[in-house]
Amino acid sequence: MTTPSFLSSLTGLFAQPAAENPTGAMVEAAYRALGLDARYLTCEVPPEALGDAVRGARAMGWLGFNCSLPHKVAVIDHLDEVAESARLIGAVNCVVIRDGRLVGENTDGLGFLTSLSRVAEPRGARVVLLGAGGAARAIAIELARAGASEIRIVNRGGQRGSELAAHVAAVTPARVSFEPWTAPVVVGEVDVLVNATSIGLFPDTAVPDVDFATLRAETVVADVIPNPPRTGFLAAAAERGCPTLDGLAMLVNQGVIGIRHWTRLEADPAVMHDALSTILG
Ligand code: NDP
Repeated sequence: MTTPSFLSSLTGLFAQPAAENPTGAMVEAAYRALGLDARYLTCEVPPEALGDAVRGARAMGWLGFNCSLPHKVAVIDHLDEVAESARLIGAVNCVVIRDGRLVGENTDGLGFLTSLSRVAEPRGARVVLLGAGGAARAIAIELARAGASEIRIVNRGGQRGSELAAHVAAVTPARVSFEPWTAPVVVGEVDVLVNATSIGLFPDTAVPDVDFATLRAETVVADVIPNPPRTGFLAAAAERGCPTLDGLAMLVNQGVIGIRHWTRLEADPAVMHDALSTILG
């Protein structure tokens, strides 16, 4: 593969606040391994300055950027085009700037799907999805687009959960249902169980309220939480003999997809995983 010559090509993250974010170290490790003279900068962008920041990125010839909350929805107003899955998810976390045009993508769900596809076939899968926030929304849409046959959404907040279920059912062929989370979740005959809530994110050590006795050893269990990678949820699933997928791999996969969008090059996930693991300990 020939490596294009990028002269200090810029990419980055528009965040508010620009808290310590491990994504930059992960992406820059990949750039170094690819021999690219490229940077990934974390920029604090207040909501009222988002339009200026986006125009600035275009003016300065950036290859693209990621957006974290609260910019994932608001950024759409400043783009020329929104890719199909990002449109269905209703949020953009990755913007690609090519020939001066800004295209919005969403890599949250695809990062998850890449991990899942290595151990299970998403087509026809029966899924229990815990949570109905941004991560759950992206995962539900990508699973349904990949042919998952049945998605049971379980969420604490009834309105958010039922709205997500109705939305996914309306825009994809999957059978989607919603269950309010009022008791330990009975898993049963499903192929994939995903924690897409923020339960278990460092320093929280809580475990989503699931009746692990109802979990079959064949069920693939995934957690979106990247820190710590080995959550109490995944440990409980592993004890039942289930294959597990961690949130760190999902984050790495997202990074690989973003770099592919920006540079058309394939980054090395092992290099990125090492960089993240070092930071997250
Ligand atoms: P949101 O705030 O949009 O959603 C949070 C979800 O968690 C909601 O469904 C919320 O339920 C639920 N929740 C939070 N606390 C509790 C609780 N105590 N009991 C029950 N449910 C709870 O967050 P996101 O969806 O954007 O992010 C969720 C997690 O995913 C974060 O930890 C984030 O770090 C991680 N993430 C990981 C990625 C990766 O690549 N690994 C990518 C994107 C996100 P309710 O609606 O009732 O409030």
